Amino acid sequence: MKYNEVVETMSPKDLQKLQLEKFQKQLQHIYKNPFFKKLYEQENFHPQQVKEWQDIKRVPFTYKKYLRDNYPLGLLATNWDDVVRVHLSSGTSGIPTPMVYTKNDLDSWSECMARGLIAAGLRSNDIVQQSHGYGLFTGGFGFHYPLERIGAKVIPTGAGGTERQIRLMQEWGSTAFVSTPSYAVYIAETAMEKGINPARDLQLRLSFHGAEPCSEGLKQRIANLLGLKEHGKEGGARVTYGLTEMGGPIVMECAHEKGVHVWADHYLVEVIDPDTLEEVEPGQPGELVLSNLNYEAMPFLRYRTRDRVLVDFEPCSCGRTHPRITQFLGRVDDMILVSGTNVFPSQVEYVLLRHDKLSENWQLIVDEKKGLHTLKVEVEPVSGAELDDKYVAGVEKEMRDYLLIKCNVDIKPVGSLPRFEGKSKRVIDRRTS
Ligand SMILES: [Zn+2]
Repeated sequence: MKYNEVVETMSPKDLQKLQLEKFQKQLQHIYKNPFFKKLYEQENFHPQQVKEWQDIKRVPFTYKKYLRDNYPLGLLATNWDDVVRVHLSSGTSGIPTPMVYTKNDLDSWSECMARGLIAAGLRSNDIVQQSHGYGLFTGGFGFHYPLERIGAKVIPTGAGGTERQIRLMQEWGSTAFVSTPSYAVYIAETAMEKGINPARDLQLRLSFHGAEPCSEGLKQRIANLLGLKEHGKEGGARVTYGLTEMGGPIVMECAHEKGVHVWADHYLVEVIDPDTLEEVEPGQPGELVLSNLNYEAMPFLRYRTRDRVLVDFEPCSCGRTHPRITQFLGRVDDMILVSGTNVFPSQVEYVLLRHDKLSENWQLIVDEKKGLHTLKVEVEPVSGAELDDKYVAGVEKEMRDYLLIKCNVDIKPVGSLPRFEGKSKRVIDRRTS
């Protein structure tokens, strides 16, 4: 089943044609904004230079900084009168990242999410507990409206109140749950502590996780903890992705679990080498660059997300022809250079979560010994697990194969490592040189 069969299965050639038309139109639209007009003039670029597909590469990249520097409304590309909603994401720098929406923008947003929810396996008879916050953060509303749009029953709990969340799941027989990945683990563990076995006592068959990185290993762990595959076909945990600068949560994984579909009639996907700024070869990892082809109020073209990804542009086995982000490899800015090798914390997590006896509590220590860099991961086992030297050696070998550099694995007692809420900061760099 598809939400918008015609568009979702459009031939790649027709999609590309549509993208170019929309891109050109969006350039003309953005050019009316004084900031972008000046930026383009400084770069000797004019919207009319984009005549063919290849010309898109001539358009200057855009950055999050622009939103902050022009806070709150310097990047508005439409009339303020047409704006009907404002969202903000809090930034570490203190200046929030704003996103404003016209009625059409909210419609585009809901359309993208509704397509994603159906692709993920959600149906109108599902009862969905939506635990993202309903405030300035885009997560809550970003799910709520498309869920209603496809006719699902929404229980808008918002964040927190863990015991109540579990009680509602029992009382109302919730079949789907929207949350951050860490909160899903927390919910499952809290339920278990209370003698509630999610696989036996709850009805959840789908869960949707975004706002934090969610590796394949973590996803499978959540599916197991919540017993998602026990409750009907197409059950499982699904990764969602989005960013305030592109409107909020916008895309999610289909039921074939072959990556996150990015709707090409709404977003143009490019993958670049963050150093050379050239497009990478197909199938190679690189930085995700997105252009918003439909938004009216505050659109961005060629926005550098700083997210390192793998993208598959081939049609999916589910029948949808739109590109898929098949792996999230961490933030470009999170990369650590260790003895000339690029290491991403997400790679470390990927290996750890493949092992059932290891928990999601870990940290990475980068240090130096006699001028040589060293890498060590400290990790807690899941409670009750017995780990011998052979097991640890196996993890170390896998770590080396995956990171291409030696990484010691140090098992710590359960409860001894710091706990992180939300976006975790797990790397401790003790190097002085
Ligand atoms: Zn698919």
